[in-house]
This record gives sequence, C-alpha cells and structure tokens, in this order.
Amino acid sequence: MSTSPKSNASLFERAQRVIPGGVNSPVRAFRAVGGTPRFIQRAQGAYMWDAEGQRYIDYIGSWGPMILGHGHPAVLEAVHKAALDGLSFGAPTEREVELAEEIIRLVPSVEQVRLVSSGTEAGMSALRLARGATGRSKIIKFEGCYHGHADALLVKAGSGLATFGFPTSAGVPAEVVQHTLVLEYNNLAQLDEAFAIHGHELACVMIEPIAGNMNFVRASVPFMTRLRELCTKHGALLVFDEVMTGFRVALGGAQSVYAKLIPGFKPDMSVFGKVIGGGMPLAAFGASKDVMSQLAPLGPVYQAGTLSGNPVATACGLATLKQITQPDFFEALSTKTRQLVDGLTGAARAAGVPLVGDCEGGMFGFFFADALPQNYGVVMATDKERFNRFFHAMLDRGVYLAPALYEAGFVSAAHSDADIAATVAAAAEALRA
Ligand SMILES: *Cc1c(COP(=O)(O)O)cnc(C)c1O
Repeated sequence: MSTSPKSNASLFERAQRVIPGGVNSPVRAFRAVGGTPRFIQRAQGAYMWDAEGQRYIDYIGSWGPMILGHGHPAVLEAVHKAALDGLSFGAPTEREVELAEEIIRLVPSVEQVRLVSSGTEAGMSALRLARGATGRSKIIKFEGCYHGHADALLVKAGSGLATFGFPTSAGVPAEVVQHTLVLEYNNLAQLDEAFAIHGHELACVMIEPIAGNMNFVRASVPFMTRLRELCTKHGALLVFDEVMTGFRVALGGAQSVYAKLIPGFKPDMSVFGKVIGGGMPLAAFGASKDVMSQLAPLGPVYQAGTLSGNPVATACGLATLKQITQPDFFEALSTKTRQLVDGLTGAARAAGVPLVGDCEGGMFGFFFADALPQNYGVVMATDKERFNRFFHAMLDRGVYLAPALYEAGFVSAAHSDADIAATVAAAAEALRA
C-alpha cells in the first residue's frame, strides 16, 4: 500500500536528531530487544503497515486500547462526527455524563468517576485522593507493577520492610518516595508484615490485579483475599489499577474476575485508561460517592484538566464500549486469545522449547520458562536471549509482539482465526530455528 520511499532506519535516524532516543515513550525504541523500531504508517483491523510497506499482525494494539482492532468503522464514524461538532470546549458535555454512566454501569464498585487524559494522570490523581480521603501519607505498591510515571510511584523496593523505597528515575527526590513502600507481588508474608508495622498509617495499596507490566502475572486468590482483608481492617483504600485490565480481561475488568473467585470482593478505588479511550487520550478514576466527594469542587482534594473529558475522546470511548458490550463479545475474544496461547505453547512443546503462557479475556503473556512466574524477580530471570531471538524471528515473519519480555500482549476482535493460525505457524518456524 505504501508508496513511501522512506525506510524505518532513515526515519529512526531522523527521529533521533530531534526526539530523545527517537521515540516519545521509551519501550518503543526497541532497546530491550535491539534492532530498528518500525515506523508505522497506517493500521487496519488486526494489521499495521510500516514505512517500508511491510505488514504486521499486531499484538500490541497500541498497548491495549485497540480492542476492536484498528479503524473500526463505528468508532471512526463517532470520532469524525464528534470532531465536526468541535474539538474541545472546556465546558461540560452530555457525552462525559454518558461515558461516566456507562463505566458505573459496567463496574459496580464505582459510584462516581472523573475523566482525565492519561493513565498516569488517573493513577496520580487516585493516589492524591486516597491520601486526601484518609488523611494518611504512606502507600504500598508492588515490584513490577507500573502505575504511570508520577514521582511517588517510580520506586523500587527498599532493603527491608521498615525502610521505604528508592527512586527508579533520576529527578525524583528521595523525599518524594519516602512514603512509598514496595513489596514483592504475591508475597503473603511480606504483606502481613508490612501491615503489621505500617497498617495504621497507610492511605492505600495500589495494585495491578493482573499485572501486565511484568508480562502477565495474576495476583493469587489467597493474596488478593488477604490484601482485601488487611486494607479493610486497617482503613487503607485498595486501589485497583485497571488501566490495562479494565474492559480488556472482562467487561467488568479484573475486579469482576476476582469477584467470581472471592465472594463479595471489590476494590475501593479503580483506575482506568487504554480501552476506555479506544485509542484517544482518555482515562478515569472512580470510587464510592463518599470518597469521590473529597475531590474539588466538592471537597479539598484538587484535581483538574484542560482537556479532561474531551468531546472527541469521549465519543471514541463510548463507541468502543458500545461494541464490547455486544452479547458474546468477550466470549469470542477470550476464545481467540486462548487459541493463540495454546497454539504458542503447543508449538514450543513440539520444538522442545520450554514455554508457558496464560491469558484472560483479550490479554495474554508467555514466558520462556517451565512454570508461570509469580513475581517480578522470576519474570526477569526468564530466558531473555531466547525471547529477543523469538521476538525478531516473529517480526521478520510479519508478527508484531511487544518488544520486551516484561510486556503483556493483546488480541483484538479483528484478529481472525486465520491470523491466529498464521501467528502460530510463524511461531512454530521461529521456535524450530
Ligand atoms: C499504561 C498503564 C498506565 C499508564 O497509562 P498512560 O496512559 O501510559 O499514562 C498505568 N497503569 C497501568 C497498569 C498501565 O498499563
């Protein structure tokens, strides 16, 4: 399709002159896997085409939002129509109300939401609200979970439970993360100990319930059960970061998955992004009316945004939600994703390569390992060289996987059985090689 004479390499070279590392978000630079990032020219359905006209089956889906595939006609029509009515007003619109109503309808733990423009902004605002609502400062997060790049959340674990974390980024003062305690994911003993010491001073615990920023790792049911009990007992808010899992692993997000396994389970606060924007900058955080009423203009916790609830973004999000709420949408998506994971593990078995995988709804992960990892340390100890070789072998065969072993993958409704089969065939070839 492309008539562009430009190569990925020449664009990357040009980009590196004017943009740090040539990219506007670090993982796009292929640093983990090496090689030249593909400059995408256009996308349709399950496919993306790069500047050289090479086609890829896309398993990144813009890191999650493109659950319908690229260029869904109903979504494009909604965006087009909204754009003609105005790009931004800085005043309330009916569509914001509609989107809030829809989120609340689909996620029972949420009684009110506020719309923002990115997952980072939503996570940062949720954290401030949790602190404002509880009057406490300390928070717990887990190693390997990513909640956007707000200062207080860019932290790695300290050397003991009484010591708080260290910044993982330059430019974050140690004082800013001194209230952030980082624990190992799925580690019940650490959780118990941390609450025993700090429970009374914790504003919240923030968690990716199914972690997608250390590939794909589920919080175990005993761990989640205990976490809920401890938060309730100590008056800390349990914040589910569902920026990736929301409207992706199930219509009601990961919390609906845990609610099926743990009677009466719900988080206190939820953070959304990615799918609810359908590919436009849109995110949200929500909780009970009681907690949300602490936000300005009702309460003392300040939070605002010029483009918050943007009319084009809300149109895109609503049109996307309309499609994924069709009967059997998630059943079909789950079946397809399961087919892919089973295909990959089957191909690996046939090739004698240790590979395990897992999925929920339209989100999946696979590891070059003998068993599914339960925490970040184990994920990062899986076979990186093998992953990188596999990544490039797949890319050469027209399959675009996430360019790092610590990222989850995504299947869209536009991926056909033939696309999945072609992917599995490419994997079989790559794994034999
Ligand atoms: C992507 C992501 C974020 C950050 O969202 P941005 O829109 O990139 O700022 C936060 N939390 C999780 C779990 C994510 O996957």
